[in-house]
Order: sequence, then C-alpha cells, then structure tokens
Amino acid sequence: MTKQHDLVIIGAGPGGYIAAIRAAQLGLNVACIEKEKALGGTCLRIGCIPSKAMLESSELFHEARDGFEKHGVRFEKLRLDLDAMLKRKDEVVKANTGGVDYLFKKNKITRYLGTGRFTSANTVAVDGAEKVELTARHVIIATGSVSAPLKGVELDGDRIGTSTEALTWTEVPKHLVVIGAGAIGLEMGSVWARLGAKVTVLEYLDRILPGMDTEIAAEALKLFKKQGFEFQLGVRVTGAKKKGKTCTVEIEGQPSIECDRVLLAVGRRPTTEGLGLDKAGIALDERGRVPVNDHFQTSVPTVFAIGDVIRGPMLAHKAEEEGVACAEFIVTGHGHVNYDAIPNVVYTAPEISSVGKTEEELKAANIPYKKGTFPFLANGRARALGHTDGRVKVLAHAETDRILGAHIIGPRAGDLIAELVCAIEFGASSEDVARTSHAHPTLAEVVKEACLAVDGRALNA
Ligand code: FAD
Ligand code: NAD
Repeated sequence: MTKQHDLVIIGAGPGGYIAAIRAAQLGLNVACIEKEKALGGTCLRIGCIPSKAMLESSELFHEARDGFEKHGVRFEKLRLDLDAMLKRKDEVVKANTGGVDYLFKKNKITRYLGTGRFTSANTVAVDGAEKVELTARHVIIATGSVSAPLKGVELDGDRIGTSTEALTWTEVPKHLVVIGAGAIGLEMGSVWARLGAKVTVLEYLDRILPGMDTEIAAEALKLFKKQGFEFQLGVRVTGAKKKGKTCTVEIEGQPSIECDRVLLAVGRRPTTEGLGLDKAGIALDERGRVPVNDHFQTSVPTVFAIGDVIRGPMLAHKAEEEGVACAEFIVTGHGHVNYDAIPNVVYTAPEISSVGKTEEELKAANIPYKKGTFPFLANGRARALGHTDGRVKVLAHAETDRILGAHIIGPRAGDLIAELVCAIEFGASSEDVARTSHAHPTLAEVVKEACLAVDGRALNA
C-alpha cells in the first residue's frame, strides 16, 4: 500500500513529535512513524520523565529519613515501598506518552506503528504489522539515540544495565557501581543512593560532569562526596562481568571492584542502523551522526534531521527547538535555534544548571569578562527550605556587561536558570537583571544578587 503525505517524520521523540505538531499547525499533512507502541521517544518512555519521577520519589524518601526531623516532623516506621514507587513512575510515563497520542489526534497527524526505512530520498517504507510505503515532498529524520556500549562490559539486561534497566530494578542494590560521571550516572546514582545503595562512580576524566563550568562541577563533587558517593576519577574501566548475583568491574592498572549492580552511562550514540540512509544518498559524519546545515537539511535538501541524531547536546528541549525551527523552515523558509541560549540541567540534589559560556570557554576565547557569584547560604528562602548549599555564578562581558554565561548549583537550579536563559535570549546585561524586582523571599533573589555581584554591589553578603 502506498500513502502520500506532505511531510513524513521518522521517530516520535521530543524532536519528531514537536516537529509534527508545528508542521500540522502550519497546515501540512503530516505522518509520523514510530517503532515503539508508546509515543514520546527516549525522553518520555525511558529517559527524562521516568528518571525525574524516580528522582522526585527517592528525594521524598531521603528527606523523610534524613531531613524532616530538623523541621520538627517526627514519625515512626518509615518504610520504602519500591513496588509502589516504580508503579507511580510507570503511571507518570503513561500520562505523558498518552498526552502525545492526544496531541497527534488533535492535530490530525497520521501515526504509523513500525520501523521506518528509506527506499529513496522521498519514499519511506514502514515495516510494521502491515507494510506501507509513504511518499512525501519532505522527510525529517528524528530517530534519536541509544546507550553507547563499552568494550568488555557485558550488558545482561538486568544486573549490568544501562539507564533503561536502572529505572526498573525491583530491589535496591547493596553496592552499585556507576561507569561514567555524566548526567545519567549522577542522576540514577542519586536515585539508588537515596534509597540506600552504596554508590561508587568510576570516571575516565579527572573531573565529573564534563562540559559544565569547572568551578561548579568541583563544588558538585564535594557535595556528592558529602552525601556518601565514592568517586574514582581518572580511571579506565576495561570490563564488567556477572557471576550469579555478583558483578566484577575491571579497571586498568587497579584492583577490580565487586558489587551487585552496574550502571553503564558513558554516553549515547545516534540511531541510524537500518534506516537505509544509503538509499536516500546520505552519508554519516565521523561520529556516526547525520550531518546537517544551519537549516537542518542533510546533503539531500528535502531530507532534514533534528535532535540526538545530529550534532550538539543530546537534550530533549534542544530537540524540540530544532523540531519547531525545522518545521517552520520547511513551510516558511525561516527557522532558527539560538544554541547560546540552550540550558542544561542535572536533576541531582542540589540541582546543577547552566546556560551560555563557561568560564573556561571565555578564557580560551580571550573574551574579557566580569564574574558575580552569590551563595544560597545568604538567602532567606533557602534557609527556610533548609537547602543552603550552592551558589549562582554569572559571567558578563567586561565592557558591554552583556550576560555571556550563567551557572547554578543549588535548590531549584533547574527552574532558576530560566530567567538567565531569557536574559541571554534578549541580549540583557547583568545590570538589567540586577535592576529587576525579584519577589521576597524567593530563591530567585540569589540570581539578582549574583548579577549585582558582577559589579561588586551585592546587598546581602
Ligand atoms: P528520541 O527521544 O531518542 O526519540 C527517537 C524515537 O525514534 C524513538 O522513540 C525511537 O523508537 C524512534 N525510532 C528510531 N529509529 C526508528 C525507525 N527507524 N523507525 C521508527 N522509529 C524509530 N534530556 C533532557 O533535556 N532532560 C533530561 O532530564 C533528560 N534526562 C534523560 C534521562 C535519561 C535516562 C536518558 C537516557 C536521556 C535523558 N535526556 C534528557 C536526553 C533526552 O531523552 C534526549 O535528548 C531526547 O529524547 C532526544 O530526542 P529525539 O527526539 O532526538 O530522540
Ligand atoms: P555523558 O556523555 O554526559 O557522560 C558520560 C561520562 O562517561 C563522561 O564523563 C565520560 O568521560 C565518561 N566515560 C566515558 N568512557 C568511560 C570509561 N571507559 N570509563 C569511565 N568513564 C567513562 O553521558 P551520559 O551521562 O550517559 O548521558 C547521555 C546523554 O543523555 C548526554 O548527552 C546527556 O546530556 C543526556 N542526558 C541529559 C540529562 C539531563 O539533561 N538532565 C539526563 C540524562 C541524560
């Protein structure tokens, strides 16, 4: 059977489903092919959403165990019901993926269940329960990414797993070894540490959170150690094997570690296998990504690619911005993403967030800058919350005062960064934010004070 659409999108993750909605809003007849039954991609099914559900639940458990008493809230017999926690996580996922189903219907997007593969640049076959061939003037590749393997690490779909398995373990590990100190390693490590596991993080580099501002990452390392995490930095993992219930993790030149669970979190790689890109005449770059120009066009101008499958940070909101820009470019000839204003948030406790340039990047580019920092310890609301670790750091151009970067570690850092993303998007100076009224008492006052501190005039420290 052959079907004709204006636009065919392969993949219904945050990139694909948002592109589908925007293109439908702009009047195109849109089809979206997704091989999984549930829509929403990695993010909604096995990524952002279930991990945040588990982070919220485990943080509540941890607070109840270690934090309530200082608020004068006492109770007896606190007990973890991991089955209920996992069930709630699954319900949160279902509500979100079901929401995308609803949006597809509302926007009259045709959904095809099956695996999409190019048969030519403007025809895509769907291998599903029924075989369909779709033709379209435009095609968007939004196939996302999968966990990267590591040579010697024998994934068994259970004890030695990726984030997907670490979101479903039905008992708390006694000792969890995490390979990789990026966002996944630290977020999922936090979940299981809060629920009672001993967590050892093995990282190849001599720091955690590569890409984040070094000063902020160093503060994060100190706080994670205080929480009981063990770190071995500058180590190379060469293998992990399971024997019965025991896993052995091998490290180059160092004693191996025995544990009962292993999480492999050394990055993700673009999904392009079986896509038939050769049939469309598209070659991959040296890192296995689909190369695109500023308008998300591949080497075939009517075939586009967005999200994790192309260059740039692997983030859901980055994929979404690209989805909107790509759909708008197809219909209107315009569409743009400001990569300097894409935030990055790690949802540990405390949260860590950043936007724009790090201090190292400014130094390397010889850009003169001023820096303002302000601690949560000096903020009334943070004291009332009982979460005073961390700070806001703002980097502004030394001459123009334009905000170039902002980095936060502290309570609700993921929400607080939005103001500074907006400031960067609008080309604001630190003075602009410093002269803006911020409600008292709020954590947002720390952002204002950090902007005042850029010119050495913080008021409350
Ligand atoms: P994906 O979400 O990967 O979607 C691609 C879709 O394409 C998938 O559904 C896949 O089944 C489908 N597909 C692939 N090939 C085919 C084919 N041939 N035919 C049909 N369908 C196909 N990002 C954040 O911004 N914030 C977070 O808090 C966050 N947390 C994360 C936590 C975890 C544990 C993980 C793993 C990731 C997290 N991410 C987070 C990253 C985020 O999930 C990705 O950046 C985002 O999902 C990328 O969106 P995408 O649309 O490019 O691809
Ligand atoms: P990552 O690239 O962020 O971190 C992987 C870490 O593993 C790096 O620090 C790297 O140096 C280390 N590593 C690589 N090889 C190693 C080895 N042999 N031994 C020890 N360490 C090794 O990758 P991730 O944490 O797996 O996350 C994958 C993607 O998903 C990232 O792009 C991330 O942005 C995204 N993600 C985002 C969020 C969020 O936004 N909150 C959450 C989870 C995932």
